[in-house]
Amino acid sequence: MKLDVEVLRYLSKDDFRVLTAVEMGMRNHEIVPAELISRIASLKHGGTYKVLKNLLKHKLVHHDSSKYDGFRLTYLGYDFLAIRTLVNRGVITSVGRQIGVGKESDIFEVATEDGTVLAMKLHRLGRTSFRAVKSKRDYLRHRNSFSWLYLSRLAALKEFAFMKALEDHGFPVPKAVDCNRHCVIMSLVQGYSLVQVRQLQNPEVVFETVLGLIVRLAEHGLIHCDFNEFNIMIDDDEKVTMIDFPQMVSVSHRNAQMFFDRDVGCIYKFFAKRYNLSFQDDADDNNYAQAETDEAGRPSFSSISKSSGFLDKELAASGFTRKDQDDMEKFIEGDADSEEDEGEEHVSETNETNITNLDSLQIEDQEEQMNEEEEKVVANQLSEKAQSDGLVA
Ligand code: ADP
Ligand code: MG
Repeated sequence: MKLDVEVLRYLSKDDFRVLTAVEMGMRNHEIVPAELISRIASLKHGGTYKVLKNLLKHKLVHHDSSKYDGFRLTYLGYDFLAIRTLVNRGVITSVGRQIGVGKESDIFEVATEDGTVLAMKLHRLGRTSFRAVKSKRDYLRHRNSFSWLYLSRLAALKEFAFMKALEDHGFPVPKAVDCNRHCVIMSLVQGYSLVQVRQLQNPEVVFETVLGLIVRLAEHGLIHCDFNEFNIMIDDDEKVTMIDFPQMVSVSHRNAQMFFDRDVGCIYKFFAKRYNLSFQDDADDNNYAQAETDEAGRPSFSSISKSSGFLDKELAASGFTRKDQDDMEKFIEGDADSEEDEGEEHVSETNETNITNLDSLQIEDQEEQMNEEEEKVVANQLSEKAQSDGLVA
C-alpha cells in the first residue's frame, strides 16, 4: 500500500481533530454518522463537513451513504493518526521507504531526530483474513464494527510487549522502541531474512542456533508459531535475529505441542532443502540447549515445557493482558482451521441468534442509550486527548 506521508505535512489541526473524531466514533459505529463526527469534533460553524471533504480527497476516510450519511477510517487514516502521535511524542521525525510487506503488515524505514533509522511496522490484521474476522463475530462481541482497528491494535500491542519481554531475557530480537495504535517502532535489523540469503558460510551453525531458539523460547513458556525462513533475519556475520511476534502462544495452549512441532518442522525442512543438511547422522550429538529429543532426533516438546513461563506475569505488566492474549489466540485459531471452523461458527451463531433474539434487542436499546452517554464522555475525552497528543494547543 502506498503511504504518501507528504500529505501528512499539509494536514491541519482541524483535519486531525476530525480524523480523531471518526476514530472515536468507530468505537460504536461501523460507519460513523457525519452528524456524530461533527458533534465529537465540535468545530465552529459546521467546519467539520469541509474538513471531511478534504480527508476524503486524501483517502483518509471512506464515505458510505448506503444506510445514512457516514464515514469510516481507512488504513491510511489510521496510519496517519498513529504516525502523527509518534511524531508528536518525538519518537520519529520522518518516514522513508517501504522495506517489507508481510502477510498482515507493511514495514517502513523511519528516522529519529538524530538521524537513527528505525523500522515501523503497521499491522493490517483483517487484510488477508477478513473472512476469519467476520466469522469471529462472537469473539468480537459488540465490537464487530471495530474489527480491523481492534485486531490490528491488539496485534501491535502484543508484538511490542513480547519483543520487550524477549529482549529482557536476552533473545535476539529487534529493540522495541514504542507503540501506538496498530503501529510498532523497533530497531532496524541489518541483513536479510533467511529466505533471501543465497548462501551461508556455516549453515549447520545457523541451523543449530535457530533450533536452539525454539527450544529456549519453550523453556521460557513460549512458542513462536510462525518460526520460518521469513521471520529469521541474518546479518553478514550470520548473526540471527528473530522477528514477527503477534501469533505467539503460551506452552500451556491446548495446541502447543502441534505449534511447537510445526515450528521445528519448518526449520528442519528449510535446511534440508536449501542446504542439504541431513539430520539422521548427527541425531546423537545435537545440543539444542540440552533438550531431550524424540525418536527422530528432534527436540521433544513434552520434555521442555514442564518448567514454563514468564509469559503471564511479565506480559501483563507490559499492558498486554491475559484477556488480550485469549482474544488473539481465538482469532489465530479461527485463522488456522478456516473452512470447517467457519461452518461450525455459522451454526452456533445461528442458534445463538434464535435464542437470544429478543434479549439482544433489549440490550441493543440499552447500548444505544449508553452510546449517547459514552459519546458525551468521548467528546470530552477527545479534547483532552487532542490536547495531550498536541493536536490542539
Ligand atoms: P508479517 O507479520 O506481516 O509477516 P514481519 O514482521 O515478518 O511481518 O515483517 C515482514 C518483513 O519486513 C520481514 O520479512 C522483513 O524482511 C522486514 N522486517 C520486519 N521487521 C524488520 C526490522 N525490524 N528490520 C528490518 N526488516 C524488518
Ligand atoms: Mg513475517
